[in-house]
Amino acid sequence: MTSPNDRSQKHHLWRPYTQMKSAAPPLEAVRTHGSRIVLADGRELIDGIASWWTAAHGYNHPHIRAAVAAQLEAMPHVMFGGLTHAPAERLAARLAALLPGDLDHVFFTDSGSVAVEVALKMAVQMWINRGVSGRTRILSFREGYHGDTLGAMSVCDPDEGMHRRFGAYLPAQVFCDLPRTAAQVAALDATLAAERATLAAVIVEPLVQGAGGMRMHPPEVLATVARLAERHGLPLIADEIFTGFGRTGTLFACEQAGIVPDILCLSKALTGGTMALAATVATGAVFECFLSDDPAAALMHGPTFMANPLACAAANASLDLFEGEPRLRQAATIAAALADGLEPLRDLPQVADIRVLGAIGAVQFRAPPDLADLKRRFLARGTWVRPFGDIVYLTPALTIGADDLAHLLEAMRAVVAETAP
Ligand SMILES: *Cc1c(COP(=O)(O)O)cnc(C)c1O
Repeated sequence: MTSPNDRSQKHHLWRPYTQMKSAAPPLEAVRTHGSRIVLADGRELIDGIASWWTAAHGYNHPHIRAAVAAQLEAMPHVMFGGLTHAPAERLAARLAALLPGDLDHVFFTDSGSVAVEVALKMAVQMWINRGVSGRTRILSFREGYHGDTLGAMSVCDPDEGMHRRFGAYLPAQVFCDLPRTAAQVAALDATLAAERATLAAVIVEPLVQGAGGMRMHPPEVLATVARLAERHGLPLIADEIFTGFGRTGTLFACEQAGIVPDILCLSKALTGGTMALAATVATGAVFECFLSDDPAAALMHGPTFMANPLACAAANASLDLFEGEPRLRQAATIAAALADGLEPLRDLPQVADIRVLGAIGAVQFRAPPDLADLKRRFLARGTWVRPFGDIVYLTPALTIGADDLAHLLEAMRAVVAETAP
């Protein structure tokens, strides 16, 4: 059998963020279990990043598999226009109960990017429905990442490499630094004051800017963002797609700052990393802006596969596990192990910073390393770790065993130490 990536074959599969001319061929995965990925050649890798930090309970959790299997027998999918079903009703009510404040109104989509698109449209249409015109821009923070679709790209860091080329194609948004210093607080306040007549909302990744570089900020900075948005009468969108479901040590990152955003986005670990599902959740005040005798005031969005029953069943099963098993305690244990295990790297000349929050541990290099070489070194140590830019990070399953985590940390220390400054 020819390998799926034989160079003599046509590239039928176009891969994500991959230079198809030169990239090393991907590895063929055939099975997963716990924190392990089994390859076609028989190798078994310890997964350090839980498939882009989705697999919170590890792979193939029997409780999620059973829930999806049962739903598959009854009804794999049904359209959501004019119809509803118990898995979606139950999931929406459970999310509303778990989320802070009165974030009670849940709109389901299929991916994080689309959850962000819906949040942006919700904010813009909220103003239209209130009879206020001209408020179509979004204030976002530098170094953020909110997804790959058009609106989501427009609120990502405007200068990083992923989306810079699309500048002319994107709506022009307003960017500020996160308010970490007094000067940055003043600058954000001044920008909000100057631009408020054209702004629809403020969007932020609470506590951790993930795919933009695993940059963390203290809860006070998030509280400042929320306070300034409120002072200027703007809804706050919290993009918890990365941070939601225990990743930062609390079920949702917003809890650590004691804030209630007006709109909140979830995806990634929502189904425990098993199915594509996302949610945009709004407070009562936002929801009420859409209640009207005018049919055109309804929220104008509706993906074909929204609230897919299999995905909702998986998400309900994942919530069962968050309720019944000590995931937040496991996140705290991982946080302590990451802090201990990565700290020795701080003194290396090639290392600029070590950052740990909850079950996220990141090493930042002073200069971007040879990523292909780094990836090979992690593989050679039986680990699946995916550095990007100047960052190498671990976001393991919250259920990862102590031995597997120790092995990942040993690989991190060795590979980072081997990387020439
Ligand atoms: C991954 C991510 C997204 C985009 O989600 P997709 O499912 O990849 O579209 C948006 N925001 C944040 C914070 C993310 O981490």
